[in-house]
Amino acid sequence: MMTKPAGSHFNGSVNVGSMQPSSTLAAMQAAETLRAAGMNVVDFGAGEPDFDTPENIKEAAARAMAEGKTKYTPTGGTRELQQAIIDFYGREFSAHYEPQEVIATSGGKQAIFNAVVTLLNPGDEVLIAKPYWVTFPEVVAFAGGKPVFIETGETEFLLNAEQVAKAITARTKLIILNSPCNPSGRVIPPAEFRRIMEVVAERDIHAVSDECYLRFVYPPAQIFSAASLPPELRRRLCIAGSFSKTYAMTGWRMGYSLAGQEWSRAMAKVQSHSTSNPNSMAQHAATEALNGPQTSVSTMLEEYTARRAWLLGALREIPGLSCNEPEGAFYAFPEVTSCLKGDIKSSGEFARQLMEEEQTVVTDGAGFGAAGYVRLSYATSKEQLREGVRRIKRFVEKRG
Ligand code: PLP
Repeated sequence: MMTKPAGSHFNGSVNVGSMQPSSTLAAMQAAETLRAAGMNVVDFGAGEPDFDTPENIKEAAARAMAEGKTKYTPTGGTRELQQAIIDFYGREFSAHYEPQEVIATSGGKQAIFNAVVTLLNPGDEVLIAKPYWVTFPEVVAFAGGKPVFIETGETEFLLNAEQVAKAITARTKLIILNSPCNPSGRVIPPAEFRRIMEVVAERDIHAVSDECYLRFVYPPAQIFSAASLPPELRRRLCIAGSFSKTYAMTGWRMGYSLAGQEWSRAMAKVQSHSTSNPNSMAQHAATEALNGPQTSVSTMLEEYTARRAWLLGALREIPGLSCNEPEGAFYAFPEVTSCLKGDIKSSGEFARQLMEEEQTVVTDGAGFGAAGYVRLSYATSKEQLREGVRRIKRFVEKRG
């Protein structure tokens, strides 16, 4: 139940009252506060590329503005953008989508929100594997659903079909999949993803596949989109995609959904009464992102590959810290339980004191359903990585 502060005149929604603010955005805010106070902060918190948006994409937006393409667009986005998304999935994954199955959204977040609120009725259960991206359970609860978590500790955070089958009940309506996963970086191998979707189809539930980190996968792991599955396995599937990470476009707020026509129609209805359509200039930028040269994506991936290798090696040299190899995205997710000593009794305390003593921001794993872990984003420069690791080492060694 929501408790009302004394003297409050705001008699707000119970659903929103029980919602937790985003812990990842809170970490970003904390870093910003320290920076504003003149501190030399190392920020491992930000889940966004440190690269600038590529010039061709910026130019497309500037051109759209100069040409007066500054008005409302159709709710689901311009035909050009829808076609660019369809072409991308056709080219890369041999998937066939119709324009009525594509909705351009204001960030991948809106696609996930649209998908969840159009599907759930009160009490519906939604399967979410731990560790999970912070937004999933909040959106589910907001829509009246019940998040049901799948523990994946025994499989080193890699979800498999048996775990999914065991978790399904008569009330299960939806599973939210996220590969590459934020925060663990785990990538579900294509064959396993298919087995999971076979279970989903057999048991008649729906699936949202959050493919926000689709292109950031490190070999031998393979890039895989649920779009490449045969039509009978994606009848009840909604893909949520994003331009934010792939093209360093976090501030542009562009994403999309790909789903069957009925689900898409429902999502368009919700969107038409909330944001109407994504920003028109950003839609032109996103069209160029998909249709234009892709060199910026490979440049970023190369850089993340080098940073990842360096960071994993360096973290493993810190006594007490253990870190599996993430196969995708741009996060390391080390376990810090062996570092919990003295006044540090939780990963939350670890993160808080590291920030106070060493002005180094990491995100507490508890917010992702994995207490005892912290998330470090390596979407930051090598110099910052080096300095940050030096500080974490000093912080841990000081406590023996
Ligand atoms: N999904 C995951 C797993 C994410 O980490 C994020 C952003 O951090 C998003 C979706 C949403 O990204 P955006 O709304 O910026 O497209």
